[in-house]
Amino acid sequence: MSPLSSEKHAEKHAELASRIIDGKGIARALTDQVGRDVAAFVDDGNVLPGLAVVLVGNDPASEVYVKNKAIQTHRVGMRSFMHMLPQSTSQDELLDLIAQLNVNPKIHGILVQLPLPAQIDPVVVTNAIAPHKDVDGLGEVNAGRLSLGIDGIVPCTPLGCLMLLKSVHEDMTGKHAVVIGASNLVGKPMAQLLLKENCTVTVAHIHTRNTKELAREADILVVATGKSGLVRGDWIKPGATVIDVGITRVPAENGKTRLVGDVAFDEALPIAGHITPVPGGVGPMTIACLLHNTLQAAKATHAIVGASS
Ligand code: NAD
Repeated sequence: MSPLSSEKHAEKHAELASRIIDGKGIARALTDQVGRDVAAFVDDGNVLPGLAVVLVGNDPASEVYVKNKAIQTHRVGMRSFMHMLPQSTSQDELLDLIAQLNVNPKIHGILVQLPLPAQIDPVVVTNAIAPHKDVDGLGEVNAGRLSLGIDGIVPCTPLGCLMLLKSVHEDMTGKHAVVIGASNLVGKPMAQLLLKENCTVTVAHIHTRNTKELAREADILVVATGKSGLVRGDWIKPGATVIDVGITRVPAENGKTRLVGDVAFDEALPIAGHITPVPGGVGPMTIACLLHNTLQAAKATHAIVGASS
């Protein structure tokens, strides 16, 4: 390669790299900020914020997630309460624990790790968490607040996606946002958040007939399906911002496994204006937003207690 072409090659490489949204870095900055805010909150004489994480069963991926949540909770100086229950736990036993956590003044946030064993209804459990401690924002009170566009606790993953979008868009007014995936956990709250940002929002799901065509119209494309590689390069409008929420573990060449998203990253990168990688995109934001939500919940409790005392 001539010196000139190698220079051009390096330039092109740098230009492509600049399109990658650094979820890891943005999450680290948010986590550091939460850490500083926790210290200031405690310095002001307030109680240490506490997060309770409940895991039922021994799904290895969930075990990794909850351990990581506990480590990060300690990192920002908050209290972490871990409750590891056996796979055979009944719904009533879990509801009893949630009732205790709801009234425990040391706990400001409660997260029940999903999925739950078949004998437990996740909707019943999620709705049993006191709305002001529902730091995953999945209960009907917080979901209702979000759909009405009023303040509440916003689910961590879509909140993280919104923060990533805001890192590249000062204003999303009038943009066409397409969300592929319509789960209560990601797709639906994401659509509500984008609506609140004045986007024109289209939601596609498994029964949508022209998902590719819709995707091609998107200025902002958020993909949360769990179908690895679903979104190909030719699904993307040139210059669009692509947020890939999907996480799938696939076999790697070295005999191990690796994580991939719902977007064919190498095809999408040269077309997108900005894109999140997997791993290192949305994933780190989810935990950072959980810590952020827990601190907000502690502050809100303090405001209520302060106001009534
Ligand atoms: P889900 O299975 O509850 O919902 C998937 C949604 O995608 C459904 O609405 C379904 O209709 C839609 N869908 C499936 N196949 C489709 C297709 N071919 N075309 C269009 N729509 C399709 O999943 P979920 O809980 O929303 O999670 C989605 C993905 O996001 C998973 O890979 C999950 O692991 C990942 N996830 C990541 C994080 C994170 O922190 N990064 C957090 C939550 C979920």
